[in-house]
Amino acid sequence: MKNYQLILLAMLAGLFAGLVFPEIKVITQPVGLIFINLLKTLIAPLIFTSLTTGMCSLGSIQHFGNLGIKTFFYFAITTLISATVGLASMSFLTLSPNLQIGSSLTGPEIEPRSFSEIIMALFPNNFVDTFTGSNYLPLIFICIFFGLGLLKTSPKSKNIQDLLESLNDLLMVLVEWVIALSPLAIFALIATLVSNTGLEMLLPLLKYIALIASALAFYAGIILPIILWFFKRQPALSLFKHLSTALLIAFSTASSAATLPVALKTVQEKAKVSKETSSFVFPLGITINMDGTALYQAAAVSFLALIYGISLSPLSLVLIVFTTLLASIAAAAIPSAGLITLTMILSVAGVPLEGIALIIGVDRILDMLRTTVNIWGNSIACVVLDR
Ligand code: ASP
Repeated sequence: MKNYQLILLAMLAGLFAGLVFPEIKVITQPVGLIFINLLKTLIAPLIFTSLTTGMCSLGSIQHFGNLGIKTFFYFAITTLISATVGLASMSFLTLSPNLQIGSSLTGPEIEPRSFSEIIMALFPNNFVDTFTGSNYLPLIFICIFFGLGLLKTSPKSKNIQDLLESLNDLLMVLVEWVIALSPLAIFALIATLVSNTGLEMLLPLLKYIALIASALAFYAGIILPIILWFFKRQPALSLFKHLSTALLIAFSTASSAATLPVALKTVQEKAKVSKETSSFVFPLGITINMDGTALYQAAAVSFLALIYGISLSPLSLVLIVFTTLLASIAAAAIPSAGLITLTMILSVAGVPLEGIALIIGVDRILDMLRTTVNIWGNSIACVVLDR
């Protein structure tokens, strides 16, 4: 049996176990957590070694600049497209009368962040601390800073480059060991999720979930493959087959960061994307290029606007799409991060922040779906941007 088939089986078993024996979470919860923690342990060293070695193999600051500019435009354009798909998806929604917002609704404890706070969060203030948080943007900043230094001092810094290269190879072996645990871990993650939440809370918002899921499927299954075909004349299906394990891990962990080690290894070894491109594009992509999150956020804002009876003018639609780009850049690659930065877009659209209380209950399932699309989008970005 192939690994992805084993994982699918494990998911079904987890679903069954969580529904029928909810007490199983006493065992499954720690097992799932150990798996996620193992992956999390690898993220920061892997980002550091792969990004800096990737930059070194680009050979010059000029090559790095060219790739950086291409990557930035690609990320921005695909995110804008996905946000537009998300907005459009809600035009198929008709509200059922039982979906009324009560005036007593109180919002969750989510602190909206200002624009300057978001910008400040991009910059590190301590080398060591950047390795410990869950916001990877300052770490990426350090890697680029460090990588530029290595390029500038090459070939004198050859020893350091070799050391980083060996460390990177070693980390990839560790990733392989963690992948071997994925069927068991995913069984545990799904069983815990189902026993904690059950399925009944999904019912009132079924239409909302179905529309977002269909929009994500449309974007991932039609738009992204067209982009891949347009640039590379390559069918998406074979890439999809290679990535199945990584995508299932993204789905079960709802964290692009936790999926990075596996996804990066897969695009390099199975999809044969060069190390120079993938080790720059993927770590950067999981932090700033979140197509699934952008689509979800745009759809959620337009859903809540509908609920509150707020009509969105063409100008506010454009503003929403552009703020979504910022919000998906600001979202960390961890579970529920997209829900937090959603507040930025709600305030731009003039939709009350308390509306989040209505959708927070079903956020996990949508998070699993959008994270899968985030990883898929970044994998395609690696292939498209590769020379
Ligand atoms: N969980 C998503 C990710 O890790 C971010 C989000 O909440 O949308 O990619």
